[in-house]
Amino acid sequence: MWRGAIQQVLISEAELHRRIQALGKAITMDYQGKDLIFVAVIRGAMMFSADLARAVDLPLRLDCVALSSYGDSRVSSGQIHIFKDLSETIAGKHVLIIEDIIDTGLTLQYLWNHLMSRHPANLNICVLLDKRAHRRVELPIKYTGFDVPDAFVVGYGLDYQQRYRNLPFIGILHPEVFAKDALQS
Ligand code: IMP
Repeated sequence: MWRGAIQQVLISEAELHRRIQALGKAITMDYQGKDLIFVAVIRGAMMFSADLARAVDLPLRLDCVALSSYGDSRVSSGQIHIFKDLSETIAGKHVLIIEDIIDTGLTLQYLWNHLMSRHPANLNICVLLDKRAHRRVELPIKYTGFDVPDAFVVGYGLDYQQRYRNLPFIGILHPEVFAKDALQS
């Protein structure tokens, strides 16, 4: 059973749903009358941005960027690549970055600078998960879903070697999964 690779369910599907509805309400209040664009960081924030957008009662626009800093590793390399840039101009718009998880902060710092150079009226960050243990740069995060411990988590968009994204909850991967990969490499 592939789900046997999950050591512990950290955040259940019901908890995710409840928190995302609350975040959606807060965003709806804060962005009344504003021209709001979600910039989702794919692939990790696919599930989160799709559910969050539906919890926001405003005529927002959706865009996405594809970034990678980890490759197939579990540790940030600090080398960020943009695979797919914005499809629309964000100059003069109210932009909310939607990200799955912040760890060192290097990925979001890179994206923050990249988007700032396009002159939005306003730029903010919404992360589903905040893993503070290895933070190297501080960023102004406006909305956070959950704080998480220093563990490698998967599910609800987050992957390990491109798998486990379709789990409907956030779980901690069993260390045996990494050990097996280490032996094979
Ligand atoms: P940072 O640049 O170190 O903040 O890393 C952010 C990126 O690393 C996220 O967008 C994720 O793609 C990935 N990442 C960090 N921690 C985890 C994790 O526990 N599971 C899966 N991906 C992670």
